[in-house]
Amino acid sequence: MKKITFPQMGDMKIGLKALFAELGFEVVVPPKISKKTLDLGVKYGPEFACLPLKINLGNFIEALEKGANVIVMGGGCGPCRFGYYAEVQRAILEDLGYCFEMIVLEPNLLRDYQHIKKILGNVSLKRLYNGLKLALYKIYMIDNIYKLVLATRALEKKKGEIDSLYSSFLKKIDQVSSLKKIKALKDEYQNKIKENINDYQRDERLIIGIVGEIYLVLEPFVNLNIEEKLGELGVIVKRDIYMSSWLSHFLHLGNEMRQIKKAAEDYLDSFVGGHGLDSIGNTVRYARVGYDGVIQLAPFTCMPEIISQTILPSVSKKEKIPVLSLFFDEHTGDAGLQTRIEAFVDLLMRKKIYDGKLLEKGINYA
Ligand code: SF4
Repeated sequence: MKKITFPQMGDMKIGLKALFAELGFEVVVPPKISKKTLDLGVKYGPEFACLPLKINLGNFIEALEKGANVIVMGGGCGPCRFGYYAEVQRAILEDLGYCFEMIVLEPNLLRDYQHIKKILGNVSLKRLYNGLKLALYKIYMIDNIYKLVLATRALEKKKGEIDSLYSSFLKKIDQVSSLKKIKALKDEYQNKIKENINDYQRDERLIIGIVGEIYLVLEPFVNLNIEEKLGELGVIVKRDIYMSSWLSHFLHLGNEMRQIKKAAEDYLDSFVGGHGLDSIGNTVRYARVGYDGVIQLAPFTCMPEIISQTILPSVSKKEKIPVLSLFFDEHTGDAGLQTRIEAFVDLLMRKKIYDGKLLEKGINYA
């Protein structure tokens, strides 16, 4: 029997598990990313590779050890190294003696029916449609609730309550397979979260936008839980990079990308791979709607984000928004990160007071 596995990235596993289970595969979800996952990836991955390749390699080794025999991995053809990842990982795993089949999902897959058939065998189109619908619905609903978590963590009445509600939501959504129940769960938890916040504190809070490379943004293990840390410092976090927004772009739904390109055009007018263009466009958009600051997250040596990093100082100066760029690798430490974000938050709060934005609202922080 085919036992299928895939990389861990944020809460994406819930959608992928639903899809492959619906298609009749046995699913082997890789263990939650841990120090062991990282150590395996660092040990066997090329030293110069960016962090996501190493972590995914660790995911695959742990899943193969649990009995998986089919790996599903993304492919690509953009200017960055992502397009080579699957092949590099395949070669390393084969050298290590693992026996498996690797399925690489290329960007044009949905237009290539023969390729889909080869991958899925005898799965009917109807079953594929139902599986995709269920998986996408879960992914969109999860992102919907997580957006609310980011926006409300800094306003919670009881410390830790919002995160505990979110964990409970994830556990429940993982267990249901009807769209109606998923929607009911989303509504239930949306209300529960809203009941647990002090809305009157909203005007006192800083708003920070997160931009950067998708893996770093979505995976809390690699970004050292930066969004949680910011929430604890009383910061409302906003971002536009989600699994659902990536899927909308991939499926040509909505016009978000057009808005991002338009916002970026004075600074960068071409695709540079990954989310490099998004980092510029979103920083401009966040400045123009009045966010207090932006944090860019990226893996060390990430080419698209290095390009953005060199442009962001001009964006910061012209659009009048402070930007902090943070690059991560396997050596990044928790204490160093905490110090840097505390200093950035402190600076933003002083700027807000200096600009009179808090005093205008009658709040005296002096
Ligand atoms: S976007 Fe950056 S981190 Fe991701 S694969 Fe490309 S170079 Fe590596």
